[in-house]
Amino acid sequence: MDEIWGQACAALETSVGPNNFNHWIKPLRLTGVDAGIAHFASPTRFISDWVNRHFAKDILGELSRHGQPVERLRFDVVPQTAPGRARPAPAPTAAAAAPAKPMRPVASAAAPATARVGRTDLGAPLDPRYTFGNFIVGKPNELAHAAARRVAEGGPVGFNPLFLYGGVGLGKTHLMHAIAHDYQTRHPMAQVLYLSAEQFMYRFVQALRESTIMDFKGMFRNVNMLMVDDVQFIAGKDSTQEEFFHTFNALVDQGKQIVISADRAPAEIKGLEERIKSRLSCGLIVDLHPTTYELRLGILQSKTEGFRAQQPDLEIGTGVLEFLANRITTNVRVLEGALQRLFAHASLLRREITLEVAQECLADILRTNDRKISIDDIQRKVAEHYNIRLADMVGPKRARNVARPRQIAMYLAKQLTSRSLPEIGRRFGGRDHTTIMHGIRKIEELVTEDHALAEDVALLKRLLEA
Ligand code: ADP
Ligand code: MG
Repeated sequence: MDEIWGQACAALETSVGPNNFNHWIKPLRLTGVDAGIAHFASPTRFISDWVNRHFAKDILGELSRHGQPVERLRFDVVPQTAPGRARPAPAPTAAAAAPAKPMRPVASAAAPATARVGRTDLGAPLDPRYTFGNFIVGKPNELAHAAARRVAEGGPVGFNPLFLYGGVGLGKTHLMHAIAHDYQTRHPMAQVLYLSAEQFMYRFVQALRESTIMDFKGMFRNVNMLMVDDVQFIAGKDSTQEEFFHTFNALVDQGKQIVISADRAPAEIKGLEERIKSRLSCGLIVDLHPTTYELRLGILQSKTEGFRAQQPDLEIGTGVLEFLANRITTNVRVLEGALQRLFAHASLLRREITLEVAQECLADILRTNDRKISIDDIQRKVAEHYNIRLADMVGPKRARNVARPRQIAMYLAKQLTSRSLPEIGRRFGGRDHTTIMHGIRKIEELVTEDHALAEDVALLKRLLEA
């Protein structure tokens, strides 16, 4: 058997090329042939998926040619990276790789000996559409994109951890998945683990409950790249933070790559331990800025090309994409949703997408985007309510009767707009972002103890959102 596989391998190396061979086929071990099925042990699910999709025919062909006719290939994931933890190969059918399944992070498929039935999935699945190829780069995200690219190359970069932050729907998750895909393709043997901070906590609590905490630690400490999405979630959750901190340190000390995302900068995450914040700032912190018109238009154009590829007769009137890029400014997810709805609408009714059709079909989305609240609105309303001059909102006066309303306006600006603290600071007469943060904190504190003030704030909020 070994001999046949050896001969088949020699032939495969020529037919698929040495690069492909070394990356994908060499890591496989032929464990047996049974009833026309060749069983392989593969170090990761990713490799078996890839081989199944790209090289199954070649392998079947070479096996037959060398005297071992088989009809199908089966792969069992048997991790090789954790010495002393290797488990016996499972029953051949257990982990057969099915083609065209969404790619999964390797570590989740390769959960070592500790895995029990029903809880083998440590990581979250990756979206195959979230690749670098599908990510449109523009001014607001070029730095984050460049950093992500660099980390995906996996060289000795020194961006550890990479911390990506930005508002909802600006592409953090997309970039993280793109890093995972790209890194995994370059380093097929590496273990990449992607999961949300919420899942991290869930696994952790589960491990505590089932007394498998040592296994939990082991699994995390064994990966080559750990990616934790939406880390703001564990703020204030003390024991989870503690565990995260240890995992984090262990990996960084071993030179393993860590990628983290959050909806705001580390310093602005309330309830996140100081030592975690300071450890985070040892790496590279980059933010995704709110989209610009150019970026939105670029994304719309690229998505439209995608739709067109499937439905070539789709007609889009001139100016429609420009109109959408102008009017839907909140986030990319909403933009995508709008486009999707528009195309569905057009293909069902077999109508060209004109500006009128777009306006009619997206009326609700366009309306909510109209209702965007500006910092100007907030300052005006608050000044009016407290009977102070609008100029005092941005002026230097420190008297309580002026300073308090100003702080309320800062608080509302943070709550009702997507502006960052430095941006808000600029709009309040060029104040420093720490001043803004202090003002926001003050109001957060006061609304819990001062009933009248809490009511004022709630009323102003309703007025502004109306
Ligand atoms: P976040 O994690 O920051 O909330 P996501 O990564 O989930 O945002 O992005 C929301 C949606 O917008 C996804 O479908 C993503 O593919 C898309 N998207 C965001 N930014 C871009 C971009 N620059 N190019 C292409 N698609 C993007
Ligand atoms: Mg996300």
